[in-house]
Amino acid sequence: MTLEDLGYDDCFESSRAERGSEGVCVARVIAQLRGGYKVKNADGEYIAKVTGKRMYSASSPEDYPAVGDWVELSDVTGGQAVIQDILPRRTVIKRKSVGKGNGYEGKSGVQIIATNVDTAFIVEAVDRDFNLNRIERYAAIARDGGVRPAVILNKIDLISPEERDAKIAEIRERFGDIGLATTSTMSGEGVEALFESLEAGKTYCFLGSSGVGKSSLINMLLESNGIRTGEIGVRSGRGKHVTTSREMYFLTNGGIVIDNPGVREVGMTDTETGIEESFDEIATFATKCRFADCMHEHEPGCAVLAALETGEIDREKYENYHRLRKEAEFFGSTAVQRRDKDRTFGKFMKTAKKDLKKRKANYAD
Ligand code: GDP
Ligand code: ZN
Repeated sequence: MTLEDLGYDDCFESSRAERGSEGVCVARVIAQLRGGYKVKNADGEYIAKVTGKRMYSASSPEDYPAVGDWVELSDVTGGQAVIQDILPRRTVIKRKSVGKGNGYEGKSGVQIIATNVDTAFIVEAVDRDFNLNRIERYAAIARDGGVRPAVILNKIDLISPEERDAKIAEIRERFGDIGLATTSTMSGEGVEALFESLEAGKTYCFLGSSGVGKSSLINMLLESNGIRTGEIGVRSGRGKHVTTSREMYFLTNGGIVIDNPGVREVGMTDTETGIEESFDEIATFATKCRFADCMHEHEPGCAVLAALETGEIDREKYENYHRLRKEAEFFGSTAVQRRDKDRTFGKFMKTAKKDLKKRKANYAD
């Protein structure tokens, strides 16, 4: 396998040149292990550890390698290596975590789940749970890290062709010409076309709520590539745990798929909890703003900004609010008036919250 097969390209090459490290051995992180990483390059796979110096100077979990990273190696011998540095990340899939986690998220609460992903497939099932707002939230997570979102509408065997067309139209209306595939892992429809659409040397991941069919899709994808999947997606208790030591898969058509436990969990709980809290709080203050159409950015008499000053509203929540608001506006068609957007956004938050409550109830049992 060449470095290009592993996803390396001119962009990484030029950042390497900028750093003056052209001669240094590089490899891609393909799995995170307890206490180390599995890395791969044209010569093979190595178990790699980060240097003591890097460990010592790391100020946040983002300073540590993640699956997808290109790293510079030294001391490459006998299947082992030392990671000296991480090449600048082109994109990141990250997750904000409140408290719980695997210890990698540290104080900043940000955990890097995967890096250098080109496209994130947002999987959504077309059954009664179908929800455009949820797609929007996942798209926000992707775009936030520079990753291009694309939508997979799965379980199309459950609806009629007419219903499917209606769903497609809804997506087109809301998300414009976003990449869109329709699949059924039951009937197999659309699955091959999806796989064929993967580009050689590009890196993909799958996002989406539990139960939409991510494991089924990924398993089909890997099995059709002769990759054994028995150990993937083992259920244990409420969550799913992946016990494989490989988290990055190289397909026969050259596509690269990242499937690690973190990716599947992105946005499932913490992000949504954050959204609910942020919006409830901000909505409470917003009723006291001088202007009814206050955007809470720099308007005089803004109660939200005032609360931010006094610390009554947390800065992170405030930023979270604006980020999602921007996403909603971005996705709202340009032809739509701002007022309409606001109304849509209000509706978005209402359904998002209802949806969340429903989901929480589901998780509870
Ligand atoms: P994940 O939680 O997103 O990984 O979802 P899974 O792949 O575990 O699938 C959840 C459930 O949906 C399982 O019972 C699957 O058999 C079912 N499922 C997955 N894909 C399809 C599909 O295309 N059609 C139908 N009818 N069911 C599906
Ligand atoms: Zn305001």
